[in-house]
Amino acid sequence: MSTLRFHAIKETLTRIPVTIEEKERRSAIFGANVFNEATMRQYLTNEANKSVLDAIHNGSKIDRSVADHISTGMKEWALSKGATHYTHWFQPLTGATAEKHDAFFETIGNGLAIEKFGGGQLVQQEPDASSFPNGGIRNTFEARGYTAWDPTSPAFIYGTTLCIPTIFVSYTGEALDYKTPLLRALHAVDNAAVAVCKYFDKNVKKVNASLGWEQEYFLIDIALANARPDIVLTGRTLLGHSPAKGQQLDDHYFGTIPNRAMAYMRDLETECMLLGIPVKTRHNEVAPNQFELAPIYDEANLAVDHNSLLMDIMDKIAARHNFKVLFHEKPFAGINGSGKHNNWSLSTDTGVNLLGPGKTPMSNLQFLTFFINTIKAVYDNEELLRATIASASNDHRLGANEAPPAIISVFIGEQLTNVLNELEHVTNGKLSPQEKTDLKLNVVGKIPDVLLDNTDRNRTSPFAFTGNKFEFRAVGSTANCANPMTVLNAIVAKQLIDFKSEVDGLIDKKDMKKDDAIFNVLREYIKTSKNVLFEGNGYGEAWEKEAKKRGLSNNKTTPEALKAKVSKQAISLFGELGIMNKVEVESRYEIEIEEYVLRIQIEGRVLGDIARNHIVPTAVKYQNVLIENVRGLKEIYGASFKKLANEQLKLIEEISAHIEGINSNVTKMTNERKTANKVEDLEKKASAYCNKVKPLFDKIRYHSDKLELLIDDEIWPLVKYRELLFTK
Ligand code: ADP
Ligand code: MG
Repeated sequence: MSTLRFHAIKETLTRIPVTIEEKERRSAIFGANVFNEATMRQYLTNEANKSVLDAIHNGSKIDRSVADHISTGMKEWALSKGATHYTHWFQPLTGATAEKHDAFFETIGNGLAIEKFGGGQLVQQEPDASSFPNGGIRNTFEARGYTAWDPTSPAFIYGTTLCIPTIFVSYTGEALDYKTPLLRALHAVDNAAVAVCKYFDKNVKKVNASLGWEQEYFLIDIALANARPDIVLTGRTLLGHSPAKGQQLDDHYFGTIPNRAMAYMRDLETECMLLGIPVKTRHNEVAPNQFELAPIYDEANLAVDHNSLLMDIMDKIAARHNFKVLFHEKPFAGINGSGKHNNWSLSTDTGVNLLGPGKTPMSNLQFLTFFINTIKAVYDNEELLRATIASASNDHRLGANEAPPAIISVFIGEQLTNVLNELEHVTNGKLSPQEKTDLKLNVVGKIPDVLLDNTDRNRTSPFAFTGNKFEFRAVGSTANCANPMTVLNAIVAKQLIDFKSEVDGLIDKKDMKKDDAIFNVLREYIKTSKNVLFEGNGYGEAWEKEAKKRGLSNNKTTPEALKAKVSKQAISLFGELGIMNKVEVESRYEIEIEEYVLRIQIEGRVLGDIARNHIVPTAVKYQNVLIENVRGLKEIYGASFKKLANEQLKLIEEISAHIEGINSNVTKMTNERKTANKVEDLEKKASAYCNKVKPLFDKIRYHSDKLELLIDDEIWPLVKYRELLFTK
């Protein structure tokens, strides 16, 4: 075994789980480090408290003079918790979270100092932001970005720093982050949904989008991970033969959680509790060393912040337990990858889940209204929705045999399929009293309020209705949920606005009753969007063919998929709803496409380096051992050596062929990279990386993985899959 590999494995095997003591009940520490409503009541004046609550629940502005009171209260609380610094905490388009810490400490002359934190510092900060991606927006204006407080997501203390969730915008007001468009989309869906709710209940004043994400990840011992340059630099293995035992026995899924992983999870969960992240579920996933963690769902903006924060602290706590967390969608070839299901719904301030069937025909008509509008929104914008989950890493998952395909379809289950079939045939125009009674009694009235068991069966659907929410399953594990959530809420908002205007039109112009109008519009929606409904096996080839016939898109790669982000339809959707202007949309597209290029470029370099500098020299070394052996046999046995050296000679040749295979393909790849780098047009460059550079990865890998099976295990330089996945 190579020395590096030997030491890494030895280190791993001697690990003792960190002991975690949980002294207090989780409910007692929940939110202890969050400036939440309870804490606010304690630290803020009545006026300041009311002002923040108003901002949270009604979106009202906070007066500058009140901000001073709030910052003072926040500071007192933070100091009492031992915080020394504060930071605006935001999510730039790098995908990671960003922070710039300032001390509360300030000198006031005469050798005196105080802790200070004014309203101005709470509300706005100017980080040195010139190196965050902005897709050219700031180059054309001033190289400045501002962060501004988002009072709807509470401040929290992490370590000794008070973190204030903020948006991040350019000097001229363009969004430079994930949160700004999300907040605008949530605002749009709130308004649109409230207007539609009024058909059913005049008391509804606010509709919140909810999000419950499920985070999948791998835990790999840090020593093993560090011994793999590909994991260190790209987050995934670029080489490695599959182990003799993979996941075929399904013995990991829902199995006993290994001790070390369990200690990690408990530590992580305690940290989550303190930060108010309501984590609830933990279990093993399908692949060895793969796990999942899910919270109780929350308001979407808060849930997005929580997920970003969680990914951050997962990394940090992993270090304490000598683990490395892999968030990559496909860290190991041939082994299941990781996703992040986004469970989504809409609920009213009167406590009604709009995607949960009710107990009366009226509440069920409301449910069907939101249900069918969502389906129509997805159908009309399937390419845009697909674009929100596109990334170099998620490309490995979509369409492979473990995750939903790149085709967006909606699964709704048998019962609701039947309901839609009935509704599709309601009379065009005014309904007869008999028909209405029939519908109420036999169709709308018959939706059982618990659909859960019937609708959670199809795991192959990218967008499935699961009883009281939709589950967007194609989202990748590294994704910032804001991206899919912004689009999902935006398309539903737009759809609800159109729906309302169509229903109102029928009421005003055709003198229809409200119910008649709603039934009429829904009927048409079912007819025009039922092509997106699919109940069968989404992984099958048959579906690809069928989907093509139905006119659904199947954008398999990121460069192809991303184009929908800048389609006319997308630009006008975002513009109309005030979510993003054309410049913002286009700059985001540019950033994402550039990120794609950079990722593949880095992978190409790393792969070339490992193949040439680690694999080939090892192969040569082993080949020399064989040659030496053959020479020895010849010396001893003379002419009859050939019979004895038969296998060795074959091996020597095989190794040569694979060395040649690696070298020629690495050369080809390097040349393709050079050619791609010269392409000015970003779209064409991405497509060159996708179609010319990337396919060579598999060829190089093929030869290297073959060599892994031929070469003496003693000298193989890379930690093997078996060791990465099964060392506990
Ligand atoms: P699973 O999908 O693993 O079977 P569940 O369906 O119970 O598990 O829930 C998955 C996730 O969906 C959880 O994070 C849960 O909080 C979330 N969820 C449940 N109801 C809603 C809702 N109304 N809106 C958004 N997310 C929800
Ligand atoms: Mg789920």
